[in-house]
Amino acid sequence: MSGKETHHPSTAADFARWIIERLSEGGHQALLAGGCVRDRLLGKRPKDYDVATSATPDQVRAIFGHRRTIPVGAAFGVITVIGDKETGNVEVATFRYDGGYSDGRHPDHVTYSNAEHDAQRRDFTINGLFFDPLQDAVVDYVQGQVDLDRRLIRAIGNPHDRFNEDHLRMLRAVRFATVLDFEIELETLAAIQELAHQILTISGERIAAEMQRLLASPRRGRGLSLLDQSGLLLHLLPQWNLQMESSRSTLTTICQDLDRSPIAGSDLEVSLSIVTLRQLLAIEPATQPILGNPLLSQLAQVMNGVVHAWKLSNESKAVFHAIQIHLPTIACASQLPWSQLQPTLIAPKIHAVLDVAAGLTIGGWISDEDVELCRRHLSRPIDELNPPPLLTGDELKKRGFAEGPRMGRCLAELRRKQLDQELSTPDAAWDWVRSQL
Ligand code: ATP
Ligand code: MG
Repeated sequence: MSGKETHHPSTAADFARWIIERLSEGGHQALLAGGCVRDRLLGKRPKDYDVATSATPDQVRAIFGHRRTIPVGAAFGVITVIGDKETGNVEVATFRYDGGYSDGRHPDHVTYSNAEHDAQRRDFTINGLFFDPLQDAVVDYVQGQVDLDRRLIRAIGNPHDRFNEDHLRMLRAVRFATVLDFEIELETLAAIQELAHQILTISGERIAAEMQRLLASPRRGRGLSLLDQSGLLLHLLPQWNLQMESSRSTLTTICQDLDRSPIAGSDLEVSLSIVTLRQLLAIEPATQPILGNPLLSQLAQVMNGVVHAWKLSNESKAVFHAIQIHLPTIACASQLPWSQLQPTLIAPKIHAVLDVAAGLTIGGWISDEDVELCRRHLSRPIDELNPPPLLTGDELKKRGFAEGPRMGRCLAELRRKQLDQELSTPDAAWDWVRSQL
């Protein structure tokens, strides 16, 4: 072991630097690459660090040892170097250029090459930067720094060709523009507009992952507008009928509203529900009750379409389900006795439902008071929000009550009386039960 190896890197950045030092000592070129360089130059903390190197995967494994490396993407020349809890792992990828793309997503084969080629195979100029931590220098073959300064998403090379190679890049362009608050360069945007229909060749899971990240941004409304402008949204959400000019202009307003009232939760389900409901409400304004069955079943249709196309998880389904079931209750919260509101407020995913309700206060579809009332209740201690029952079914059985629908009705009525403070002690509850016999 050399002296340097006894120094333990304690952050991801240190670990990546340590890896680059080791590769460099082995006579290889090694650089930080891609997103981590971009994020550092923007003053953001990178999510993870990637290293690109002239060393082949075998050479990388020889340097770090087989026990400390995983050949995750050996076919693409990617080796994971295992770190510890603090540093996380770092991916080390051999410089390469990609062969033909016959499936619109994956290169048919890759060829190991030099740093310049490796920059050119990347998607956008701001993602094609390298950084040499040993020289403290940016290595820029694609004019990425200029575009970082101008806040532009620009495809490397011919945008049309690059989006034809890999259709997912179209959606990545919009996602990066949204998350970073950049513009999409005009030729890049024009190429997306031309090829937008190809997005449907991408798997639902990949689309969902990008949409999750886009809709997690505080600028999610702008993101949806960009998706619309680029022509992708029409194909991603055919249920929104964006071929109609009126739907598109409604969408523009809704998207602006979405960013003016930041939602606490950052869920795809919440944003999509708000936009869908507001669109439906714009088409068929206020019939009473506002959030009646016709509207909710239309919402359900749209959501089912999304769940199916994007292969969303059961977790997502549960959120959509809660929104459909509980939104009408939230919308009239202040008119309900506590015994009717309380079961809704203790239901799973209720915070997402409240976020949707908050999104519908713009336009006045739901009142601020109703949403605020629910939020206040939800911040109460749990034994106030959901007190244990005064009497349980077991206790009734012990005293000789027979199980059955009658006992069920009795327990439900007891619960109602407890929540509405008509009964407050087990003794009072027993008195009431006896009075019923
Ligand atoms: P983030 O991780 O924050 O989404 P990132 O830039 O690190 O951003 P990754 O998906 O982790 O994005 O990819 C790492 C790098 O690999 C990118 O910066 C880019 O250079 C390259 N890359 C990723 N996906 C593609 C793609 N579909 N086509 C071309 N290059 C890509
Ligand atoms: Mg990354």
